[in-house]
Amino acid sequence: MIETHAHIYDDAFDEDRTQMLERAFESGITQIWMPNCDHTTIDGMLALATQYPNVCRPMMGLHPTYVKADFEQELYIVENWLDKMTISTNNPTSIDASLTDGSSVPQFVAIGEIGMDLYWDKTFVEQQKEAFLIQCDLALKHHLWIDIHCRNAFWEVVELIEKVGDTRLTGIFHCFTGTLEEAQKAIDLGFKLGIGGVATFKNGGLDKVLPYIDMKHIVLETDSPYLAPVPYRGKRNEVAYVPLIAQRVADLMQVSVEMVASQTTANALSLLPSM
Ligand SMILES: [Zn+2]
Repeated sequence: MIETHAHIYDDAFDEDRTQMLERAFESGITQIWMPNCDHTTIDGMLALATQYPNVCRPMMGLHPTYVKADFEQELYIVENWLDKMTISTNNPTSIDASLTDGSSVPQFVAIGEIGMDLYWDKTFVEQQKEAFLIQCDLALKHHLWIDIHCRNAFWEVVELIEKVGDTRLTGIFHCFTGTLEEAQKAIDLGFKLGIGGVATFKNGGLDKVLPYIDMKHIVLETDSPYLAPVPYRGKRNEVAYVPLIAQRVADLMQVSVEMVASQTTANALSLLPSM
C-alpha cells in the first residue's frame, strides 16, 4: 500500500524513526509520500528521501498555515528546489535528478502540501489564496499534481482551482472529511480523496460519503503524526496504522481489504508519470 501523506520527518519520530519505518514496511507499506511544510522541514524530508530512495518520496510546497507576510520568500525557496529537479523526459521514473555540480536531488512527486486553512487564523487569507494560485502554476509548469490541505475552506479552494481553469491540474484533497456533495465536487474536478484516520471516528462523517462513491477516487494516508485512527485516537499517529484505515474503508464500502489495498495503490500510482 502507498501512504500518500505522512510527516515522518517530524520531531515526534526523533526517538524511534527507524523502528517506526520498519513497522510501516512490515505492515505492507511500499511507499511513503512526504508533504513539505516550509523551509524548515526541507532538510529532514530530503534526508529521508535520500536514505530510502524510491520509498520515502518528497513533495515540495508551502503549507497554508505557514503562509505569513514573508510568503513570497518561502515560495522563492520552493521554486528554487523545483528548478533543481530536472525531469528527464526519456526516463521520467528516475528518482534522482542530476545537478550541474554533479550531486543529485530526489525527484519530487508532487507540489504539497498547499491550500487554505481558515480554522486557526484568517489573518493571511489573501496571501493564502495567492500562494495557492502561484503553486498551482508551479505544478503545471513541472508536470506535478498537487496535495491539497483545506480546512474550513473547501469551497474557497474549489473557487481557486476553477480560477486556474486547467484540466491538467489534478491531485489529492488530503485528509478529506467533507460531505458527499463536496466529495462529488472534488471528483468532478478530477481530484482524489485522501482518506485517513478520521474515517475510523464515530463522528467522522465519512460513513455518509464512502459508501456512495467509486473506490477509484480514493487514496490512503495517515497524516502522521496527527489524527491517529481508532483505537489510537489522540495518540501519536504512524504509517503502520494505514491498514486500520484500509479496513475501515473496506467495511464502509463493503469490499475486501485486499481490494481496497490494490485499488488505492493503483489510484495513487496513477498520479505519477507513467512507468
Ligand atoms: Zn499534512
